[in-house]
Amino acid sequence: MPHVLISGGSRGIGRSAADLFAANGWSVTCLFHNNKPEVKDNIIAIQCDVKDPAQVKESVRLSEEKQGPVDCLISNAGISVKGLAQDLKEDDYRLVMDTNFGGLFNLANAVIPGMVSRKQGTIIAVSSMWGQTGASCEALYSASKGAVDSYVRSLAKELGPSGIRVNAVSPGVIDTDMLNGYSDEDLKDLADETPLGRLGTPEEVAKAMLFLSSDAASFITGQIIGVNGGFLI
Ligand code: NDP
Repeated sequence: MPHVLISGGSRGIGRSAADLFAANGWSVTCLFHNNKPEVKDNIIAIQCDVKDPAQVKESVRLSEEKQGPVDCLISNAGISVKGLAQDLKEDDYRLVMDTNFGGLFNLANAVIPGMVSRKQGTIIAVSSMWGQTGASCEALYSASKGAVDSYVRSLAKELGPSGIRVNAVSPGVIDTDMLNGYSDEDLKDLADETPLGRLGTPEEVAKAMLFLSSDAASFITGQIIGVNGGFLI
């Protein structure tokens, strides 16, 4: 059974990905931070703060001990801090950059040596359309996702010769806890701004991940795949 390791597998997009991959014959390791997800069948959960390289390394080791080598890494854990750029503090900077970009950096570093020695594997990062366009009052978040996009393109070039594909999914507005800070009016405006006229679901992002992990995407690497209902074209 192939093994996928998903950070932020407790809720939202990561949880949907865990369920979809499990239903498609994968063994799944969910990394969670505070909220332990329900574990069932071929899904296990390990507590891990993706900001901490030592915890990440140990979690990958544990997951491989239980489920075999990681065939697919999904770096999905993410956090947003909203506010005027001039009001954001050093702590906000560290939290957002270390989670959204540092999480990818730490996880990729932990799985790449094994993937390179096996000459196979797939890495999927979760970015955001705001990383491409920039979002007012989410400057740090947007910057962290811009870093994710650049890292994905660079890793794809570096790891392609070793048979490893690296891509990102770049969601638009997806109905998860991450939208909790928005008012109903904001959410209606965002849906209206989306050509498909609605918010996306976590399952729709998970389906793009499953595609990128599969042989159907065997010649796709270094791409930032928008899953945004046409919000960003
Ligand atoms: P949620 O807020 O629903 O879930 C966030 C997940 O990240 C949780 O599983 C949480 O774990 C985990 N997490 C946060 N910090 C850490 C940490 N330090 N270590 C380990 N895990 C952590 O968000 P979404 O599902 O919406 O977001 C998933 C990804 O999709 C993020 O990268 C986000 O930026 C991106 N995205 C989301 C969009 C949206 O509209 N929803 C749009 C564009 C991108 P726990 O529950 O244990 O705290």
